[in-house]
Amino acid sequence: MDLGYANRLAVVTGGSSGIGLETARLLLAEGARVAICGRDQARLDRARDTLASDRLLALRCDVLDAGQVAAFAQAVAAWGAKAGPPALDLLVNNAGQGRVSTFRDTSDQDWREELDLKFFSQILPIRAFKPLLDASDAAAIVGVNSLLAYQPEKHMVCTSAARAGVQSLLKSLAAEFAPRIRVNSILLGLVDSGQWQRRFEARADQGETREAWFARLAREKGIPLGRLGQPAEAARAILFLGSPAASYVTGASLEISGGVSRHI
Ligand code: NDP
Repeated sequence: MDLGYANRLAVVTGGSSGIGLETARLLLAEGARVAICGRDQARLDRARDTLASDRLLALRCDVLDAGQVAAFAQAVAAWGAKAGPPALDLLVNNAGQGRVSTFRDTSDQDWREELDLKFFSQILPIRAFKPLLDASDAAAIVGVNSLLAYQPEKHMVCTSAARAGVQSLLKSLAAEFAPRIRVNSILLGLVDSGQWQRRFEARADQGETREAWFARLAREKGIPLGRLGQPAEAARAILFLGSPAASYVTGASLEISGGVSRHI
């Protein structure tokens, strides 16, 4: 199946690591031009070296800073204009991370930061890139979200609540932006990328191997497929939902969880 990405323009926020990096890699392999952003310049430089493509733009941008996001959108428009009238075909809102805390351990400040991260990492890029998306004949937004939206966990209380709100936001936008821009999301279970690597590095028993730690995690979480997902497995779902091949899909979400979801 041809996903239809040749010569299309895509933006992946948080494209310097994990799922975002894999998404950028697959989009480049499909023939798209890809702009990625992240906050850490060294990580972006490593991503640029790894992806090694003249169809890649890698810029520093904190998606929670409206001025930086507007500047990123301007830079993407100028870069896109080199290949014709600038139009953005795909915006992947992927930047972010989860927060582990129970209600007892979550301060008001924590709540504000988490709600800010989850909502404004969608809102600011969507607002800044909307004119470019409007100029595309096959525009799509994919929000990277979590299964926690439907299956909250008490040890991730504010992340879970925020994730549910983001699902609501994306559903509303799918209706508001139709028929010009499709809006979909993926719902992740556990994917072996940056944030789980950081939790592995901070493990209580530093003698436990990576393989044993991740195998135990999959067992404890009761993942039917028996392992965490790989970033490329999430990226492939993002590519499908964001592509012209998914032209009749909007307001939908696709679970990438190894079967760990319990809701119908
Ligand atoms: P990684 O830590 O590997 O990648 C996160 C990326 O986001 C990095 O490129 C990071 O770069 C960037 N980023 C974080 N905050 C910002 C910011 N404010 N502005 C710009 N870039 C930012 O994590 P994953 O690949 O696992 O995560 C991708 C998304 O998937 C995240 O939103 C995460 O919450 C979500 N998710 C992941 C799950 C998992 O199991 N892995 C489960 C559920 C959801 P830098 O730090 O340099 O800015």
